[in-house]
Amino acid sequence: MVFTHDTEAALQAAVELVNSADDPDTLSSPDDLAEFLERWEYTGRHDGTARELEDVRDLRPMLRALLTADRDRAVVLVNAMLAEAHAVPQLTRHGRHDWHVHAVSGTEALATRIAVETAMAMVDVIRADEMTRLGTCADDACGGVVLDLSRNRSRRFCSTTCGNRHAVAAYRARQAEHG
Ligand SMILES: [Zn+2]
Ligand SMILES: [Zn+2]
Repeated sequence: MVFTHDTEAALQAAVELVNSADDPDTLSSPDDLAEFLERWEYTGRHDGTARELEDVRDLRPMLRALLTADRDRAVVLVNAMLAEAHAVPQLTRHGRHDWHVHAVSGTEALATRIAVETAMAMVDVIRADEMTRLGTCADDACGGVVLDLSRNRSRRFCSTTCGNRHAVAAYRARQAEHG
């Protein structure tokens, strides 16, 4: 593990959320959001309303800016996000999740909690000077965010789809060369 479990999960969820905005948008209904929350085991308030969905969708450009920022810029964004939400880090334990940090109450709006959770995860990334774990997809046609938690820092594509497309293109290029 590069970071603690809760930090890695928060980063992975944030990357998935940001990449859901890529065409075709995969976060377009309250059901999509409910699935996302279940997949990442979100607890706390979940209104299930169109407004909540809209707020979470609107969060994506800001999270994208944060995840792809340089280190000093990320610090500015993280500090602003934590201040705006009046974040108070508290250790908590629930369900099968051992002690980890929640920095705002579970009764706060979902979009606020996702923003704060991502900001808290970025605190770890910034302090460990591991911003290079985040980048954009090596496929030129894709703007997806990539989170590389691999030991040998080998991850270059945002998804297996992009990785496969790249492999096929490289194969064809080799065939053409030797054809
Ligand atoms: Zn929790
Ligand atoms: Zn990609």
